[in-house]
Amino acid sequence: MSEKRLTQHLLLPELRFVKHHHRKRNQYIECIKVSAFEVCPKCATKSSKVYDHRFVTPRDQPIRNGSVTLKIKKRRFKCQNSYCAKVFTEPVSGIRKGFRTTQRFRSCLRDYSSKYMNLKAVRKDLKVSSSTVYKAFYEQIELELRKSANEWPKTIGIDEHSFNRNVKGHSREFVTVFVDYTNKRMKEVVLGKSINDLLNSSIIDIKGRENVKNVIVDLSPTFRSFAMRFFPKARLIADHFHVVKLMHPRLNELRKTVVDDYQFPKSRKNPINKLIYKSRRKLRHHQKRVIHEFLKFNDELRELYFFQQRLYRIYQVRGYKRAKKALFSLLDDMARSKFKKTRSYRQTFFKWRYEILNYFCTSKLNNGRTEGYNCKAKLIQRCAYGFRSFPNYRLKLLYHCR
Ligand SMILES: [Zn+2]
Repeated sequence: MSEKRLTQHLLLPELRFVKHHHRKRNQYIECIKVSAFEVCPKCATKSSKVYDHRFVTPRDQPIRNGSVTLKIKKRRFKCQNSYCAKVFTEPVSGIRKGFRTTQRFRSCLRDYSSKYMNLKAVRKDLKVSSSTVYKAFYEQIELELRKSANEWPKTIGIDEHSFNRNVKGHSREFVTVFVDYTNKRMKEVVLGKSINDLLNSSIIDIKGRENVKNVIVDLSPTFRSFAMRFFPKARLIADHFHVVKLMHPRLNELRKTVVDDYQFPKSRKNPINKLIYKSRRKLRHHQKRVIHEFLKFNDELRELYFFQQRLYRIYQVRGYKRAKKALFSLLDDMARSKFKKTRSYRQTFFKWRYEILNYFCTSKLNNGRTEGYNCKAKLIQRCAYGFRSFPNYRLKLLYHCR
């Protein structure tokens, strides 16, 4: 490769190579800008009258792990408009005014920061200050995210997770995440989980609310009423997993009372602990017999266990009509129960009946992706040993979940 071609790759587009020297692994490249004239920033008159010179030394992207510093001899021009006569320094594209690093060095910092465990390691490797890494990282992420800002997609999922402790109130703060199922990425992160928090947040600026056709929520009344108000044309879908696990706590409670009353061994290895939640379809013959014997000890447990099994079977059904028939017959039977807790579960299912059934008109949409991103969010929090600033947390989450 000729020297000219080589320097074209090394330097920024407007610069010309002059001299090079190195100390250990640090490269110093002297260069100048070549242009016939410059435009005055005050009055926009062309000027070619050089007034004097200045040297600037911005950091550039490293080559083979060695740092690179550009030494640019910049010309200062005097405006040829006699009414203006401003003295100004020529700008160089690729270096923002007042910055001592090139833009490509900053985007390189972003790549390092997203790959490394923490920002401290980046600081050590690239030999820059913490504040430079910190500022460049979040600034570059924001630029990157601005490129992909678009409208609401067809399908979204909503869920919340804890963020950090509120210093004043000692209570946990929560963030709500909106996941884009169409493009498989996180759409927006909002601080708080109440309706007011959601309605007064940045999501109102995103256009195309009427595009949203499916909203997947867990069994949270807040998210349901929010989704009904905010996405009036959307169909709400209750998440399969949250519906199925609703009765599990009561099942466990009753199982414990039986174990206590009849003094069964309390070992963790007791097979009943796990078998009682399993679908009967997956049990072997001898396991079914064990369960059958165990259920004889408590009437409520036996009743709830068979309701739970019917609920599992509803999700095996194909087609909306069949599922509707099965669900309504289950609800009718639950209403006749003499146990209070069972009737209260029946009420919850009754309130959510349409959302539960909507699952059967879609291609079995569920909240799996949203829960997956929640897991990733927790990991990001752990790696950073917690976040203080919510805006930075939001940027980092959106950048990693895309
Ligand atoms: Zn001027």
